[in-house]
Amino acid sequence: MKFKSLNKKSKKVKFSEAVISGLAPDKGLYFPDKYEKLNIDFYNNIEKYSDIDIAYKVLSPFVGDCIPKSILKKIISETLSFQFPIIHIEKNICTMELFHGPTFAFKDVGARFMARCLGFLNSNKNNNVTVLVATSGDTGGAVADGFLGVKGINVVILYPKGKVSDIQEKQITTLGKNITAIEVKGTFDDCQEMVKSAFLDQEIISNQTLTSANSINIARWLPQMLYYFFAFKLLKNKNKPIVISVPSGNFGNLCAGILSKKIGLPIDHFIASTNINDVIPIYLSSGKYTSKKSKETISNAMDVGDPSNFIRILKIYDNNLDKLKKDLSSYSFNDLKTINTIKEVYDINKYILDPHGAVGYLGLKKYLKYNPNNFGLFMETAHPVKFSKIVEKVIDKKIPIPERLKRSIVKKKKSIEISKYEELRNFLIV
Ligand SMILES: *Cc1c(COP(=O)(O)O)cnc(C)c1O
Repeated sequence: MKFKSLNKKSKKVKFSEAVISGLAPDKGLYFPDKYEKLNIDFYNNIEKYSDIDIAYKVLSPFVGDCIPKSILKKIISETLSFQFPIIHIEKNICTMELFHGPTFAFKDVGARFMARCLGFLNSNKNNNVTVLVATSGDTGGAVADGFLGVKGINVVILYPKGKVSDIQEKQITTLGKNITAIEVKGTFDDCQEMVKSAFLDQEIISNQTLTSANSINIARWLPQMLYYFFAFKLLKNKNKPIVISVPSGNFGNLCAGILSKKIGLPIDHFIASTNINDVIPIYLSSGKYTSKKSKETISNAMDVGDPSNFIRILKIYDNNLDKLKKDLSSYSFNDLKTINTIKEVYDINKYILDPHGAVGYLGLKKYLKYNPNNFGLFMETAHPVKFSKIVEKVIDKKIPIPERLKRSIVKKKKSIEISKYEELRNFLIV
């Protein structure tokens, strides 16, 4: 399989080239040239396959001959070194917890897969690769952990000083080795601006390969398909049409779910649940796409005003809104509604939602009200302890900190503080 640029100007490339460069030379996102449905027998017998065999079956057509079978299997089994449990919440509703990875972020799967693919693809090259990312919180920790110790790759993470949580900061700044944390006196937007400037800086890119590790990169985006396959494996015996609600920000996770449906996974319908950053709900109801400046909410990993992966979803439906609406509904919820839901679900079902999962739950409830014959699943994308300041107040109870997280909290922070692009430039050039 090859990957084409959605800006249509660059040539088609293999998996390896798309992973190393991230974005196509014409600045377009890479998208699979063509994809085929998997054999119907596979879906009928999916419960007989191990998660690792499912993952290999799903991902290997995208990877093609760029990574030998034995190595891809090893990469997959290292990526999937933790569980994705499904928890019953109430009649016809359950959640899949995606946060049991090393940094308690659902981005762990994508970051680990991408790190290992890039490590392998770069292993016979002399050029060092620098992964440069800006983070508003969760991405940084997952990327740092995923790439830790991968040979030939240096990771530089920019985060806004004083604007990430204590736990998040420790996850970025305490690993050392090939991970450098840069603390920027400014906002997340300033960090992102600096990253963009570096990618256009000839002097920087002339002596190293610079790449990004956000969900634009196909190696971070595609492995998210696996959640949907694992969910189907566990929910197949419900014998009801399955609908999945995804708390969405940049829409990478949801897009991976929709791509799974396109290769034959029997999911009936998807719900894009958002906070008040409602560009997509508005697009689906009005047909008008208007990007907005992002607004701050308590589900801050979804504070996105111009979701970068939505263009991939449109591509899957040939930009036909009516076709898209048959498979996708989208709703937006404000912080008050989110908080009330965290309280209600805890009081009634004794389940602790995080603010992102709560938005996912709300979207699912809304859809099931009109479609009561479906079975619903929502994705829980973060551990509630990461948002303990909000959640503990709402449920009036302390959330115990998991052991693994405690270990990073006591480690010593190490970072480089900067305020101007020139400082980042000097760091990257030497
Ligand atoms: C990144 C993130 C999201 C949004 O995922 P997208 O793929 O960008 O839509 C949702 N919840 C949490 C906790 C996240 O970290």
